[in-house]
Amino acid sequence: MEKTGKTALIDREKCIGCGACIQACPVNAIQMEPGFRSVVLPERCIGCGTCVELCHQKAPSLRSPQTEAQVV
Ligand code: SF4
Ligand code: SF4
Repeated sequence: MEKTGKTALIDREKCIGCGACIQACPVNAIQMEPGFRSVVLPERCIGCGTCVELCHQKAPSLRSPQTEAQVV
């Protein structure tokens, strides 16, 4: 898989720590933090959007690192 130039960011207020995105991420870019909220490692994330699509809480979103603007 190639990098898309975007990075996922997980909204801690929305995440319930179910772990589904951690299992689904193809490059192991998501980890569980203490407190049961997941966090994206931006240096690993390739912006594939898998976590954005699967999360029922709509906690992850894709952002462009240049602008920090929300793109999805
Ligand atoms: S799938 Fe959504 S709610 Fe579940 S751990 Fe990932 S971001 Fe949090
Ligand atoms: S966008 Fe893709 S690579 Fe990035 S954290 Fe989500 S599932 Fe992993």
